[in-house]
Amino acid sequence: MSTADVVIIGGGSTGTSVAFQLARRRYGKVILVERETVGAGPTAKTIGIVRLHYSYEPLVRLASRSRDLFGQFEELTGAVADFTRCGFLLLAAEGEMPGLRANVDLQHRLGIHSAVVTPTDIAGLDPRMNIDGVAGGAWEPESGFADGYATASGFAAAARRAGAEIWETAGAQRIIVEGSVVRGVQTARGEISTSTVLVACGPWTPQLLRPLGVEVPIQSSRQQVVQLGLPASFGPLGIIIEDMALGFYVRPETGDTVLAGVLEEEAEQIVAADEYNRKPNFVRGTPVCMTSLRTGSRCWAQSRASEGCTSPQAFPATGSSSAPHSAKSWLHSSPGRPHPLMSRCFASRGSSTATSSGAVTPRGFSGNDYRPPSALSPRDD
Ligand SMILES: Cc1cc2nc3c(=O)[nH]c(=O)nc-3n(C[C@H](O)[C@H](O)[C@H](O)COP(=O)(O)OP(=O)(O)OC[C@H]3O[C@@H](n4cnc5c(N)ncnc54)[C@H](O)[C@@H]3O)c2cc1C
Repeated sequence: MSTADVVIIGGGSTGTSVAFQLARRRYGKVILVERETVGAGPTAKTIGIVRLHYSYEPLVRLASRSRDLFGQFEELTGAVADFTRCGFLLLAAEGEMPGLRANVDLQHRLGIHSAVVTPTDIAGLDPRMNIDGVAGGAWEPESGFADGYATASGFAAAARRAGAEIWETAGAQRIIVEGSVVRGVQTARGEISTSTVLVACGPWTPQLLRPLGVEVPIQSSRQQVVQLGLPASFGPLGIIIEDMALGFYVRPETGDTVLAGVLEEEAEQIVAADEYNRKPNFVRGTPVCMTSLRTGSRCWAQSRASEGCTSPQAFPATGSSSAPHSAKSWLHSSPGRPHPLMSRCFASRGSSTATSSGAVTPRGFSGNDYRPPSALSPRDD
């Protein structure tokens, strides 16, 4: 039987990060057990937006430290997480502005560099944007996006070099408890004796803890992300945009593509962690017109917290809904009608149309109008 000072269960970005931090601090013998391979869960599927706009202070602090760490990731781990500091812009309608201002105030109290911006400022960030109905926004010039899988595998490799053991295909079957004292972990590769266990299983956490009488209010919700091709004349997207008014987010991806998804509240579909529809179908029962999306799509599940639970997840915890899917038509484009995603983000200030092949073509702007996000000087509100 093996022994360890700590056993970490789950090899996503959380578990591997903890393994690395403990190992480099010489905590003792650290074993991380992962039922598949490092990064096999939502960590490898995230679109990886690293932003600090939350209403819950501990989460803002955590996200802020994470972003700092991404800035030093290579130096710390010797690996690359592909952190791209392109800036994060949150768009809001009038009714959402008080909450947005409160969040930016909270950031300022914590010494975070961010700003409340006006529609004019927003147009300065990317003049191609259609900002009809946008009352203002929050701008974080130092935020960006990273590669989740590279993050977890970089942490795991650095943890290994610092002396931690990473056991893959070694799922934890149960946590061994005597009385109220942890004694070890039974894994697919045998038992490990330990008095300290850290559970970082994401959506699979409740099923591991339930036999111990511990109910963790985590549910899994299905998330869909599409990779959209941009018209050649458009030029690249330079910043991350999250639009609370229309309920979507989008970030630059390689080449002339972007990754986009609907905000969690808009696409509420609670699913079992291992049983859900992996094919994208943005509107229930109606396949998305993929011809207009050109480059492909993907969808996965991620864990979320139920109402009343503060969550370490990157997305803020939201209320629970029993509705299986809140059908939104913004990614369901019909030929001849503007694609709402395109009409907000990529279209001219006028309109966008679908061509006969179904591809969405923005009109009324020139790709040369584009100015990089640095055109905006963040200001205090
Ligand atoms: C489509 C999508 C988009 C997202 N976008 C963003 C974003 O833009 N920004 C952001 O910050 N976050 C985003 N997220 C959320 C982010 O991916 C997760 O918060 C993060 O990856 C969670 O990491 P984790 O290590 O806590 O858990 P997970 O990645 O869920 O890892 C848990 C691991 O535990 C393993 N495991 C499960 N059971 C056992 C067991 N019994 N024994 C051993 N191992 C076990 C699993 O195989 C898995 O590898 C997104 C998620 C999805 C799905």
